[in-house]
Amino acid sequence: MGVLKHYRELLPVTEKTPDVNLEEGSTPLIYLPRVSKRLGDGVKLYGKFEGCNPSGSFKDRGMVLAVAKALEEGKRAVICASTGNTSASAAAYAASQGISCFVLLPAGKVALGKLAQALMYGAKVIAVKGNFDRALELAREGAEKTGCAMVNSVNPYRLIGQRSGAWEICDVLGKAPDWHAIPVGNAGNISAYWAGYNEYKKLGKISSLPRMMGFQAEGAAPLVFNKPCPNPETIATAIRIGNPVSAHLARAAVSESGGEFNSVTDEQILEAQRILAAEGGVFAEPASCAPLAGLLKLKRAGKLPDGITITMVLTGNGLKDPDTAMSQVGKPIEINDTLEDLMQVLGE
Ligand SMILES: *Cc1c(COP(=O)(O)O)cnc(C)c1O
Repeated sequence: MGVLKHYRELLPVTEKTPDVNLEEGSTPLIYLPRVSKRLGDGVKLYGKFEGCNPSGSFKDRGMVLAVAKALEEGKRAVICASTGNTSASAAAYAASQGISCFVLLPAGKVALGKLAQALMYGAKVIAVKGNFDRALELAREGAEKTGCAMVNSVNPYRLIGQRSGAWEICDVLGKAPDWHAIPVGNAGNISAYWAGYNEYKKLGKISSLPRMMGFQAEGAAPLVFNKPCPNPETIATAIRIGNPVSAHLARAAVSESGGEFNSVTDEQILEAQRILAAEGGVFAEPASCAPLAGLLKLKRAGKLPDGITITMVLTGNGLKDPDTAMSQVGKPIEINDTLEDLMQVLGE
């Protein structure tokens, strides 16, 4: 039914708010028995598969509200800087409402699927010769000069809409998880989930709160190393961010919940992506696999307790970044169109 309808009473939605809806949210919370076994006795690992959202990432949860509120305020254009998924999402909602969308992307650093999406949805796509952090500064200045609605996660409605992910997890599990594992880029989503869990606790819908476990790529880990990272580098382009806008909120979430920030290498991310696909049946993009990489790392270090329930946010769909996936796996086995050739492969 879409996030605005589903959680209407928890969102700043009034009679004046346009009914924007691409049937986002209500994504599957998938129990992963084979992957759970790797993490220890009695560990229950669930993946919240945000790749099932209409534009293929969790960004839709907040974008639907940001675009609805922009329309309510009479705006007819939106602008954002993006590592890819924000632009895909903004472009989709702008298209559905017939308004303009401008997206600023770091040139050459956006996964192919995401670029294809923004262009197909009809956004004006601007490739900035600079990194994401610089593109974000430019987008902010552009928004100020033109009056376009800025729909990056500095837009407060984005983070409010993204709380719905936490609410859905609790609605399905009937409780909060013990650990909540999540990739951290611009640090909005971890902050939104923490706010969402807290709101549910206040409403008496859950009795405990999870430890918030945030994971960053080693080459773009400002929250782990506690200082901005001027030249972020990682294969996980969605979290290739050196100066997170919501760093203060994310730090609060981690310290209030007794959680941690940890870093993982690109190799560990790619290994986790293969494990998730080959042992979980779920194909998520590289950034989404940083949490699993981190959980496996904590397990190896003896820092993952047995018997706990963990939810991890699989933030985006693996199909968005086919290039990275194909660079990691073998080629198909080619045969002549004869049964003999086929039997040779099947008999192996
Ligand atoms: C945006 C994004 C992230 C990072 O989320 P933040 O709110 O910026 O921390 C992680 N994974 C994917 C797939 C994303 O699109």
